[in-house]
Amino acid sequence: MHPGIRHLPDHLSERARSAGAAALGSGGIVLYWMRTALRGHDNAALDAALTLADALDRPLFVYHGLGASEPYASDRVHRFILESARDVAGEFADAGIAYGFHLERPGDDGPALQTLAERAAVVVTEDMPTPPFRLGVRALADDRGAPVLLVDTACTLPMRLVAKRPERAFAFRKATERARMERLALPWPPYAGRLVTAVPDDLPFTPIDLETADLSALIAECAVDHMVGPVADTPGGARAGYARWTTFREQGLRTYARRRNDALDRQGVSRMSPYLHFGCVSPFQIAREALEVGGPGAEKFLDELLIWRELAHAWCHHTPEIETLDALPGWARASLDAHRRDRRDQVFDGETLARGRTGDALWDAAQTSLVVHGELHNNLRMTWGKALPHWTETPEDALRLLVDLNHRYALDGRDPNSYGGLFWCLGLFDRPFEPPSPVTGTLRPRPTAQHAKRLDVEAYARRVASANATRPPRVAVVGAGLAGLVCARTLKDHGLEVVVFDKSRGVGGRMATRRTDTARFDHGAQYVTARDERFVRYVEAWAAQGLLAPWQPDGREQAGGTDIWWVATPGMSALGRHLAGDVEVRGEITVARLEADGRGWRVVAGDGVEHGTFDMTVVATPAPQAIPLLAPVPELAEAASRAVMAPSWAALLELAEPIGGPEVLRPAEGPLAWAALDASKPGREGARTWVLHGRPGWSRANLERDADAVLADLAEAFAALVGRPLPEALYARAHRWRYALVETPVGVPCLFDGAAGLAACGDWCVGGRVEAAFLSGAAAAGRILNAVVDRERREAV
Ligand code: FAD
Repeated sequence: MHPGIRHLPDHLSERARSAGAAALGSGGIVLYWMRTALRGHDNAALDAALTLADALDRPLFVYHGLGASEPYASDRVHRFILESARDVAGEFADAGIAYGFHLERPGDDGPALQTLAERAAVVVTEDMPTPPFRLGVRALADDRGAPVLLVDTACTLPMRLVAKRPERAFAFRKATERARMERLALPWPPYAGRLVTAVPDDLPFTPIDLETADLSALIAECAVDHMVGPVADTPGGARAGYARWTTFREQGLRTYARRRNDALDRQGVSRMSPYLHFGCVSPFQIAREALEVGGPGAEKFLDELLIWRELAHAWCHHTPEIETLDALPGWARASLDAHRRDRRDQVFDGETLARGRTGDALWDAAQTSLVVHGELHNNLRMTWGKALPHWTETPEDALRLLVDLNHRYALDGRDPNSYGGLFWCLGLFDRPFEPPSPVTGTLRPRPTAQHAKRLDVEAYARRVASANATRPPRVAVVGAGLAGLVCARTLKDHGLEVVVFDKSRGVGGRMATRRTDTARFDHGAQYVTARDERFVRYVEAWAAQGLLAPWQPDGREQAGGTDIWWVATPGMSALGRHLAGDVEVRGEITVARLEADGRGWRVVAGDGVEHGTFDMTVVATPAPQAIPLLAPVPELAEAASRAVMAPSWAALLELAEPIGGPEVLRPAEGPLAWAALDASKPGREGARTWVLHGRPGWSRANLERDADAVLADLAEAFAALVGRPLPEALYARAHRWRYALVETPVGVPCLFDGAAGLAACGDWCVGGRVEAAFLSGAAAAGRILNAVVDRERREAV
């Protein structure tokens, strides 16, 4: 037993267990590492830390850190936690408890927690038994041997008092009910000892003043998933949590038993799970208040809150490796295994699933609810989860995607209850059902078609597809390159109305393909590499769809990962077309200027024609073309002018005969920087199409020359390179990319002015590659979505 536990009164010691060094450290502080009980009341971890600070006479400091590298970190989760932390900071300021919030960002991401832990006699943190949270404890306690005390802040009956891994809810209910009720009979004892607390000298991070901080700006600095936007109508924090609870207690609790299974009845359920997951509200207080109300509604609610919720916690607590099918009961595992090779009618990739594009109306609506609202009605969540094994190649894939989709989009993701629910879909806490079905065997069947019979799917789909905001903005995006399309699609996926304008007829910008009667040429981006996890996920999905394929010219060995040269098939422009699929794109409109007209931005084309007024506008053109459009907000125009872009002349040749030799040439000098046999890319026909790219310096020096003269020079350089005269050209053209490559990026993910409602994005913000354009477009979408929430919050005051 950790020596610290001896100092704790019974109601705290029964909740505490040791991880890492089972001895007190020599440091001079008591550290409460806050993660999942974001409240200053009814908080067993806080009370344990206060008690230890008093007993050891070492000041308590509460460290609350939030890192971009945490699994599933997104604008959605960051916003909720930051808003919750605001309430926590207020509670602690009132109570006089020393607290510091650390938002890890580039430049301030040092090992603050480890440094503080080294200075601590004991580190107290919440006992949250799921993989994403266990990871952090392992890194601190096991790898660094810090003296960590884990305290259960979530369950009325502490998880560690549940003797063994529970298998069925009724047995768990029976075995634990009395002990739980004994604990609920009395209110949570407030901490009554001495307050020994101080901010340590030389803090290893810069704490954020949450009261005054611009949360949207802070989130934009974090390298998190900006394609998962904040949820306007679910603000983080204790105040919002208790407000929602009070409304439900007064208006929904009594009828809960009757109304809870109707996904269309939003007020029929509590929608408290994000607040319970992040511990913004005290489950003890909620349970006591529900007990006071009494009646069948409260009884049913308490069964969910106390039995099913705590069953999932206890199950996670007793399951060392959770994210594996081995965690399932034997019969369920065996059944999934026996049907492993059953034929699946359809298999979907991660992107199709994440965007709710399977074609199954009910399932797609359920997924849309997760994407737009960060929540999914519990009754529908079961049907949603049960579909996955039918749409994935293996049960392992089904589990992986269930976890990913749930944790990425649901505000209550990563919770033991999430795991309980997801594993229930695969047989946990359940029994076999005969006769066996294809793919899922004796797992309880729950087809979407059956569920669709008891829900007005159209009405539900309509409701969940509308934006999570009272007045969603209408957004214009200028530029249908990768950045503009990613931005537009992300906004559209969140229910916003978006129109994209481009001066070209087609989409994709510099990720382009030129078609002739007999050939295709990728005359812009040649291939795509993926380094950032946020992009890798999509690249993998596109590869699974057959949209991207690895290109191995000259039998190039590819070690995998960042080394793979991905190309879109049948041409590079296919990716742009894919991204534009659901978005309204108006081509052949060159936007000449944006005019602020008091209601938003008027989009005016070069011919003087106005194309509508939009609440917000995103400029997604190359930097030099963005500058005049950004002119109404000089700071943005000035920032864009810091990017330096280089031109590139391209030559496209279709030769009458193959020329043999290498498929890719990258000469170190001369006019040419690159020559590639375009036809060597997967999915291309013919063997005689070549794309040549002029070196940026040479292209710059020859920028204004006649295209035919440039073509002749590049062809000559190519002939010299391959050491033979070129065969007859069936097609030969030069194309001038005036703004091809980024020489100096601005160095920020995107540009944004919230007051003006104007953003700019493109590869030139980050660094010149397709991946950079993708990330920049996502960042711009994140800024718009956060701005929507900012406005809602302002108007709510
Ligand atoms: P763009 O693709 O340029 O999109 C901007 C869009 O804005 C265009 O469609 C344009 O028509 C439109 N537009 C501009 N002005 C207006 C206006 N006033 N009104 C309306 N529409 C307007 N990247 C790689 O990762 N790998 C490579 O191998 C690679 N090779 C390259 C080779 C060449 C020759 C070139 C040119 C680029 C290459 N790149 C490569 C870079 C890559 O293509 C870009 O980083 C990426 O495509 C940029 O996307 P974007 O959306 O930021 O801009």
